[in-house]
Amino acid sequence: MTTSINIIQPDDWHVHFREDEMLKVVTKYSARVNRRCIAMPNTSTPITSSNQAINYKKLIESNSHSLNFEALIPCYLTDNLNIDDFIYALQNKIFIGGKLYPTNATTNSQYGVNDIKKIYNIFEIMEKENSVLLIHGELNRDDVDIFDREKYFIDEELYQIRNTFKNLRIVLEHVSSDYGVDFVNSNQNIAGTITPHHMLLTKNDVFKNEEINPHHYCMPVVKNEKDLLSLRKAACFDNKNFFLGTDSAPHHTSDKVQYKSLKPGIFSSPCSIELYATIFEEENALENLERFSSINGPKFYGLEINEEYLHLSRKNFDLPDYTEEGNVRVKNFFSDKKINWNVS
Ligand SMILES: [Zn+2]
Repeated sequence: MTTSINIIQPDDWHVHFREDEMLKVVTKYSARVNRRCIAMPNTSTPITSSNQAINYKKLIESNSHSLNFEALIPCYLTDNLNIDDFIYALQNKIFIGGKLYPTNATTNSQYGVNDIKKIYNIFEIMEKENSVLLIHGELNRDDVDIFDREKYFIDEELYQIRNTFKNLRIVLEHVSSDYGVDFVNSNQNIAGTITPHHMLLTKNDVFKNEEINPHHYCMPVVKNEKDLLSLRKAACFDNKNFFLGTDSAPHHTSDKVQYKSLKPGIFSSPCSIELYATIFEEENALENLERFSSINGPKFYGLEINEEYLHLSRKNFDLPDYTEEGNVRVKNFFSDKKINWNVS
């Protein structure tokens, strides 16, 4: 049995650091293992300008408790962006790319895009600037079942984006279905991130006896066994098109447990790489972890691969149920289950 592994230091290509006190508490958990993180721009006032991105990056990095940690910021795409500023920010690497949130798909996505055709001019700019389009790929419409939102988004929007902007690099974020995996694998210039929770939970862990477990509620919602297995295969084996993105998304526990304001999001950064290692070990694929966690991501984004290494050893990871500091109290994902790996 393998008892320790060394991997190139990972990056997390999808994290929510939020704002204010929450940001001050949670950032260090991502920075403890990752060298870079993409910080999602769906803050209460979305990040849509170069100035906001510069300030948000500084704020995150100054709260990381790490000297070489880097926050990368995508622009929150809307149909009323200042185009000159957007181009300036892409050319000067202030934005790592642009993030598309279809309206009301998840937390703070009410500023998102209603009619995606309206921002095709922005995709055209991004393609020309060789930038990356990050997509929350769900179609949120009354007639679409919550479990089919990813499929509908692919069928009704993504095919067309893909075929219209053939050279635009696209990341389908937090792929959650068998259908999504197939789409990524059968198209060009597209990659997917996969979260630990989509490889550990099925819908039975969320919806049981007509009750929702708020701590397992996230967007896209976790799906069936078949989807989970397909995601595990995509991450652990032929994983050249997939890389690490936890979608760690903290909410105050009080916001999570009130049904009426049930907020989607799972907080996994205190145990992120440990969870991935546990999953890869279950699949007998530990030798492929590094490619998923540390190589495929920078390759796709056109960035250098990290130079430092991270050492993991096989030992029970003792994770408290909550991250608690000051007024912040967030449920730690998987604290009641077995995590076999530790960072040393
Ligand atoms: Zn997210």
